[in-house]
Amino acid sequence: MRRMSAFLGGAPARDLLGRRLHDLRISVTDRCNFRCVYCMPAEIFGSDFAFVPRAELLAYEESARLARIFVSLGVEKVRITGGEPLVRRDLPAFVAMLAAIPGIVDLTLTTNGAALRHLAAPLAEAGLRRVTVSLDSLDPEIFGRMNGVGFPVSRVIEGIDAARAVGLDPIKINTVVRRGLNDASILPMARWARETGLTVRFIEYMDVGNANGWRLDDVVPAAEIVETIGREFPVEPVAPAYRGEVADRWRYLDGAGEFGVIASVTQPFCGDCSRARISAVGELYTCLFATNGHDLRSLLRGGASDDEIRRSVEAVWGSRVDRYSEMRSDETEGLPRVEMFAIGG
Ligand code: SAM
Ligand code: SF4
Ligand code: SF4
Repeated sequence: MRRMSAFLGGAPARDLLGRRLHDLRISVTDRCNFRCVYCMPAEIFGSDFAFVPRAELLAYEESARLARIFVSLGVEKVRITGGEPLVRRDLPAFVAMLAAIPGIVDLTLTTNGAALRHLAAPLAEAGLRRVTVSLDSLDPEIFGRMNGVGFPVSRVIEGIDAARAVGLDPIKINTVVRRGLNDASILPMARWARETGLTVRFIEYMDVGNANGWRLDDVVPAAEIVETIGREFPVEPVAPAYRGEVADRWRYLDGAGEFGVIASVTQPFCGDCSRARISAVGELYTCLFATNGHDLRSLLRGGASDDEIRRSVEAVWGSRVDRYSEMRSDETEGLPRVEMFAIGG
């Protein structure tokens, strides 16, 4: 099924493989209060790690200006991310700027949930519609180990409750599965999501960046995740809601909702990839596995007009041929890649 597009501009930008520009992820910081083992391992990102100095971050006004330009090129969905977006000061002010842009049909945010208890209400008031919370296990010990700082799972659950209470619905839960760490958490997560009416999406552990020491053996394939859940609760596949949907959806036959699997390693979906990412310092990335971004901050700060920036983005997207996950092989192993916390997943 193809989703109706609300894009009112001219023809949306398309890349060399015919993929349109539709989703934009804006990273507002490279900092994070967690040290997830698969993203920012504590032994590498210690207290002496040099994060980006504040003056180098895009100001909210600059990011919002870019968002407007991207909307004129076809973007309809904007996700705020990081690092951990909730650690950046005054985030609701940025949400309000994005909420005021006509043409953004879906405005959302991905967070580790640590600060959601306090921020859910101001974010909703600012115009955020929904939220994705990353949560890898309900077991305090496993969760504490995975987030690398011993953060209590109960606080994340309080954050999810706070988000629900202010109507940030539907809430999606992202669960990265890493073999030997939280594979035993798959079923408890599925049970909990069924009981609470949340949609969980299990994500295959990816080889993003160069810091997490990724090995194929640590990936739990999506098929195995579906099988694990299907043994306790019979399920059937659900047709994608729109072209380019990254999660394969599965519905419980007893009517208790659904879950998703994001099989970026075992069943890559580059063919429909319509996502652009802007790092916290204003670089445009056209692939999660890119080596380099394209500097938009110099244009913003160098006095370029909206039209000039628009043409520059259009040129970058227009020459895009990225399909890393489809090409993943021994030859792509070890290539320099941007870290996930710099561009936000
Ligand atoms: N800090 C926020 C959070 O964790 O939700 C937003 C940024 S985080 C980089 C975005 C998403 O990427 C999270 O759901 C996280 O679990 C996922 N992620 C990070 N590293 C990953 C990896 N190596 N493989 C798969 N997903 C990963
Ligand atoms: Fe932080 Fe999110 Fe990366 Fe975990 S996945 S270290 S919460 S940016
Ligand atoms: Fe898109 Fe790159 Fe991921 Fe393929 S590997 S789906 S092109 S971000």
